[in-house]
Amino acid sequence: MHPINPDILSLTLPELEAAMPQHPKFRAGQVFDWLHRRGAQSFADMNNLPKTLRDELSQAFYIPKVETVKKLKSKTDGTVKYLFRLGDGVLVESVLMEYSHGHSVCVSTQAGCKMGCTFCASGADFARDLTPGEILRQVYAAGQDCPRVGGVVIMGCGEPLDNFANTMRFIELATHPKGLNIGARHITLSTCGLIPQMQALAAHRLQITLAVSLHAPNDQTRQQLMPIAKTYPLKDLIKTCREYVNKTNRRITFEYALAKGINDSHTQAKELASLLKGLNCHVNLIPINQARGQFQPTPKKETTAFQETLTALGIQTTIRRSLGGDIEAACGQLRAGQQEMDNLNC
Ligand code: SAH
Repeated sequence: MHPINPDILSLTLPELEAAMPQHPKFRAGQVFDWLHRRGAQSFADMNNLPKTLRDELSQAFYIPKVETVKKLKSKTDGTVKYLFRLGDGVLVESVLMEYSHGHSVCVSTQAGCKMGCTFCASGADFARDLTPGEILRQVYAAGQDCPRVGGVVIMGCGEPLDNFANTMRFIELATHPKGLNIGARHITLSTCGLIPQMQALAAHRLQITLAVSLHAPNDQTRQQLMPIAKTYPLKDLIKTCREYVNKTNRRITFEYALAKGINDSHTQAKELASLLKGLNCHVNLIPINQARGQFQPTPKKETTAFQETLTALGIQTTIRRSLGGDIEAACGQLRAGQQEMDNLNC
């Protein structure tokens, strides 16, 4: 037994085969099936494997665990929000969302985040990167509450491209035909815009949807909202997006959270339209959620006006349906709340 990575849920099928060279190849396939199709929580569950193999596996590997600390179900739209505690005690959030075409799970890639966006509840409070298996486990756990998971959005806590290798491997495992078998087109990865990693992602030419958190049409406003804007100016970010579209042939989604009086004026809508001119993209307007209190959401009327300006200037725009409003489903809110409770307890 050669434990390449002791988190067995993070291993690809060839890696599992390589980890058990003294066993016939089909055994690795059985283990993969137990882990990724049958949701095995322990090696003892794998009752079609020889006991010797189960013992060897349990000595060399572990199956990452998630413990449900909180589970909130929205009364209005069926959204389920989970607060999970991982093996070492760190907390992550996931959300199960129901759409007309099926269920999607929103996963976290890091416990906390280093990016420090001023409006986001995840803040800059970073604990650690999650392993591919820990990201996958969130999908499997939430999947128990719906008939079938048809899509994944990598939009929970953390910056996925700041945990690049693990996120890539998570995508590989989630799309594996012998695993969950989610179509790459049903996976959306959201980034605050880390240029070098976006270039690396483009080179993989995945058919996933890339969502870029833009939130502002110029550097000055963007820097107020997102510290990363000081490292990567918008001009370079948009150039990278154009290259990404050319390489992958996939339309990019831009996320734009509207904050009253900050980024929602008519002038800013026009500025945004000219920034995105000729780029195969789609703008998703989101009324900003008051996770940290300092920004007010743009009222409905002004949101529609912002959308109309963009549409008139040839930019495809939708206003995102807000799910789970009654259960604090906005980023990082549950985790932040629980940490406050943990702090009070100790
Ligand atoms: N780090 C990644 C993904 C996680 S956040 C990213 O920045 O894209 C997922 C999306 O939710 C991002 O677009 C983020 O900017 C947005 N978001 C975070 N807090 C928000 C809030 N309070 N209101 C509206 N959108 C928010």
